[in-house]
Amino acid sequence: METQKPQDHRLAELSGEPSAKPGCADCLSLVVARRSARSHGNYSGVSDRNVELRRHHVVAH
Ligand SMILES: [Zn+2]
Repeated sequence: METQKPQDHRLAELSGEPSAKPGCADCLSLVVARRSARSHGNYSGVSDRNVELRRHHVVAH
């Protein structure tokens, strides 16, 4: 049974952040690292992960 989830991906896109491609472990690990950095108040870390994620999207997707 499908449950309603907050639209994390859409919110991320609207705020200008790249989101994970479904089924890609590399995307997922970067998104998890970004979330962890943000939860620690490490905004330069968040920015770095976004740069890595965009670069990964270019080369891998
Ligand atoms: Zn990916």
